[in-house]
Parts: sequence; structure tokens; C-alpha cells
Amino acid sequence: MAIDVERIKRRHAIAEVVAAHGVPLRPVGSRLVARCPFHEDGRASMVVYPATSSYYCFGCGAGGDVIDFVRRVERVGFREAVALLGAERPEPIDRPVMPRPPLRLSLDDRLMLTAACELYHETLLRTPGMLRYVETRGVAPWLTRYCRLGYSDGTSLAPYLKRRRLSLKRAQELGLLFPSGDETMAGRVVIPDLRGAHCGWMVGRIVDGLRSPKYRGLALPRPLLGFERARGHQRVFLTEGPFDWLTLVGWGLPACALLGTQPGADTLRLLARARSVVLVLDTDDSGRAAAIALAASIGDRARVVELPEGVKDVNELGVQPDGREAFFRAVDEAERRARDVASAG
Ligand SMILES: [Zn+2]
Repeated sequence: MAIDVERIKRRHAIAEVVAAHGVPLRPVGSRLVARCPFHEDGRASMVVYPATSSYYCFGCGAGGDVIDFVRRVERVGFREAVALLGAERPEPIDRPVMPRPPLRLSLDDRLMLTAACELYHETLLRTPGMLRYVETRGVAPWLTRYCRLGYSDGTSLAPYLKRRRLSLKRAQELGLLFPSGDETMAGRVVIPDLRGAHCGWMVGRIVDGLRSPKYRGLALPRPLLGFERARGHQRVFLTEGPFDWLTLVGWGLPACALLGTQPGADTLRLLARARSVVLVLDTDDSGRAAAIALAASIGDRARVVELPEGVKDVNELGVQPDGREAFFRAVDEAERRARDVASAG
């Protein structure tokens, strides 16, 4: 089978792969530098270029694309490197594999997703344990209603859809039900993507931390969560996870969630109209690397927020007593850095 190298390069941001192999990166302009893992490197001789998805070491001459990097660092051949890349970067959101995933949503599909969203929302509102869970994640009751968060008890959806004469077969194709008839969102807190009065997609998060996958979406392309309400704003905030997004929406900010670190097919196009895009990604290596890679693609309009030391993401910051103030200080700082770069350039 032919290997599509360009597709692999698109799917695996080189900065993320390098960071995932324990090589800390430091941004310098649109590039990243690191101590080279392939020779005794006292200074940061290796340069990673997110824009061209390549790297080069000025010390030992090692260089190439993301596959070449994995070959060298793992000491494997080309095919093994490709296989490793495939294995190490699963889709951030699990999608149930359905026989014929629908490409476009019909009106009936929207009605079905909206019905499921409403059922889950009503279920959450009368499940005190789950309401407490979302509150511990910093989601206030008004925000739960505004974003129509839900909860699947795992038993109510099929009878509910039947009563409303909606097709269970279609519910399977959309990824609401497994072919067995079980609910894909069972036991999960559900965060819908609202488009006007309709629900267009949803993602469910496990609450006990024991089962996997942590997030499960529908059998539909992953959207830029929250885009409908953020579109048209001059400044749009971009987060990794849905709870990070909820934190920012709770602060009244126009925000969207990537649902992972990789931009979806449409992400950059959707954000093209915003005058500035404020990146609020996680503070781990892959979040930092993804922020830098995204900033390189977005260009001058990007602002990279550096969250305070010790928090892993903005949702965690949001539940701290002074979290909101600390966040807005970090945003001001990011704006100031962007102005400095603009006036220096
Ligand atoms: Zn080197």
C-alpha cells in the first residue's frame, strides 16, 4: 500500500512529535530551537520549522521531515516510523465507527441531534451528582443552561427517539447509538455544538476518570466547537478542550475549542475573518508546541497566552480564586508581546 507522506506530515505537526519525544523546544520567531538529541549538544543547535514541517541540526547535520525525525530518534526504518506515528497520535476524540457516516446533516438529522441534546440536558438537570461534577469543573448553573450541557443515563435515548418517531437506524449512523443499540454517550457529560436553535454535534466526557476514551464524539467530522457563537467577533479565543472552552464562555469571551491540538480541516479558514486569534492551549509540551505551530500558521493575528506556572489548562485556572484576573493579565501580556514583535518588525 502506498504511503501518503504529505498526509502524514499534515497530520503530525513536527513540533508536537519532537516535543512528544522529550525534546523541549523554545520558540525563536517562527521557528523553534532545541538541543539536538542526535549528538552531544551543549547549545541548541537543532532548529524545527513548523511552516515547512522540517528540522535541521547545525551541529551534526541531521535533518529532514517528521518521519525522518522518528526514524532517527527511534532507530527504526521508514515503515516502522510511519507505523509509530500512526500509533502515537490517536484522534483526540474517539469516534464510533459506523457503517456509512453521513457527510451532510439533513433537517431530520438536526432534529434528531437536537432531540438527543434536549433529552440529555433535561437528564443532567435532574441528576444532582452530575450537576455537582460540572460545578466542580467551574461551570455555573446559568452556563450549564446556556450551553445546554447534558448527561446520558444510558437507557433513555432509544425509547425517547421512538416516541418521537425518529429513526433508530439513523441514530446509529450519526453515532448516537452503537449497532448493539447501546448509547455511545452512556455515563458521560455531554457538551453539544449549538448552531442557532439546533445541535449539530456533541462530545461526551467520562466523569469517573476510569474508563476510556476520555472523550467520545459522534460519527461526524469534528467541528470547531462553539464557532457559531464566536463568529463575527474581532477577537476569538481558541482552546484545546471543551471544559477550557466552557471556562472562557463563562467569562463572556467569544471562544472556540479545537478538541485536541490539531486544527481540523476548516479551522484556519473559519478563523480567517477574526482580527486576532488568542491561543489558550494547555501548558504541557504538546500544548505549547501546538500553540507555536498554530501561531506560525495564523501569522501576525495570533496571540499566544502563557498561563501561570503550575496550572495545566485554563479550566484548572478558572476554578482558582484569582483565576480570572490571572487569565486576563496573561492575555494582556500576550497582546503586549504581539505589539512589541509588530513594532520591532
Ligand atoms: Zn545534532
